[in-house]
Amino acid sequence: MDIISLDKEYVAGTYNRFPVAIVSGKGTLLTDAEGKQYIDMGTGIGVTAFGSGDEQWVKAVTQQLEKVQHTSNLYYTEPCARLAQLLCQKTGMKKVFFSNSGAEANECAIKYARKYSQEKKGAQYSTIITLENSFHGRTLTTLAATGQEQFHKLFQPLTPGFVHAKAGDIAGLYKLVEENCVAGIMLECVQGEGGVVPLAPEFVKAAAALCEEKDIPLMIDEVQTGNGRTGALYAYMHYGIHPDIVSTAKGLGGGLPIGATMVSEKMQSMLSFGDHGSTFGGNPVCCAGALSILSRLDDTFLAQVQQKSDYIFNALENAEGIESVTGKGLMIGIKTKKEAKEVVAACRQQGVLCLTAKDKVRLLPPLNIPMDLLTQAVEVIKTACK
Ligand SMILES: *Cc1c(COP(=O)(O)O)cnc(C)c1O
Repeated sequence: MDIISLDKEYVAGTYNRFPVAIVSGKGTLLTDAEGKQYIDMGTGIGVTAFGSGDEQWVKAVTQQLEKVQHTSNLYYTEPCARLAQLLCQKTGMKKVFFSNSGAEANECAIKYARKYSQEKKGAQYSTIITLENSFHGRTLTTLAATGQEQFHKLFQPLTPGFVHAKAGDIAGLYKLVEENCVAGIMLECVQGEGGVVPLAPEFVKAAAALCEEKDIPLMIDEVQTGNGRTGALYAYMHYGIHPDIVSTAKGLGGGLPIGATMVSEKMQSMLSFGDHGSTFGGNPVCCAGALSILSRLDDTFLAQVQQKSDYIFNALENAEGIESVTGKGLMIGIKTKKEAKEVVAACRQQGVLCLTAKDKVRLLPPLNIPMDLLTQAVEVIKTACK
C-alpha cells in the first residue's frame, strides 16, 4: 500500500494533508516519494528554521544522541542548562521552563500569570485576556485562549477564564480590564494562523502600558513569530516592549519538539518545586538542536532575514493578482485575487510548497534560504497568482 492510502486508513483524519509524501530534504529542497523536488516555503509551519538536514544542527543533535537521549528532569543535563542560559542572555529574561510544544509553552505561561496575580491580588484574579482572531494552541485551555469560535464548537466546556479583545481596540481592552479580575494579557505580535496580521505598534504599546499600570503580566506568544522568524530575535523586540512572559516553540528546535516559557525578573520565582513539570521537557537532544539554532541568530544573520523579507515584499506587492502582502520578516501573508488554496496548489504543481493562513497564502521559508531558490520560488508564486 502506498504511503498516502496507508495514512488515510490508519491516521486520525484531523489533517487536510496536501497530496505529497515527503521522503527527504536538504536545505531548502524537499523530495517526495516520486522523486519530485520542491522549494520549501513552509518549513513544516515555521519549524525547520535552517531548512532540512542543516549540517550544524544534525551534528549537534547526533553528537548528543550518541551521549544520552533522555534523562527526565530528575537529573541535570548540560544542553538544557546551556539553552536556558542562552535564552536568558539573548532576551534579558531570568528563568525558562521547557516543554515540548507551543500549546504547552502557553499552558505554562498561563500558570505563571495566574499564580502571580492570584498570590498578589487574590484568588478571583484568574481571567486571561487574549485577542479575537488569535491562535494559542489545541489543548482545552489554549483553545479557550484562542479567539476563534470555529475551533471551540463541540469541545465544550473549555477551561473557563478567557475573554477576547479586538486587536487595535485600546478602549475595549481597558473595558475588559475594568470588568474582569484579570490575571494576564496574552498577544501574538503577528497573528499567524489568523492570517499573518501584525498588530499595530500603538496597540501593543498601549497594552504594555496598561499591564504596567495595573501590574498585569504581559504574555507574548512567540510560538510562530519567535527565533528570528520576523527579522528580530523575538517579534516583541520590534515593538520596544518588555513582556513578563514569553512563550516560544516551533522554530526554536529546528525540527525537534521543544517549547520554552521565559519569564522576567518579577515572575522568576513564581513557579517553584511541584508547580509544574514535563517528562520530556528540556530533553537533551532537543535542547542541543535548539542551541545550534539559537546561537546562530545574531544581528548579522537577522539583517539577512530582513533583506530577504524586503525582496519578497518588493517582488510581490503590486504584482498582478495580489491584493496585499502582510507580515514581518520571513513570516508573510499574501492576499490573492484567486482562492489561496488554488494558488498553493498551482505552486505545488510547479515545485514550490507554500502554506495558507485563513484566506491568505502564507510563506515561512527557511531563514537561511539561498537567494537563487528564493528568486525562483517568488517567480512561481507570482505566476500562480496571475
Ligand atoms: C502553532 C502555534 C501554537 C501551537 O503550537 P503547537 O506546537 O502546535 O502546540 C501556539 N501559538 C501560536 C502563535 C502558534 O502559531
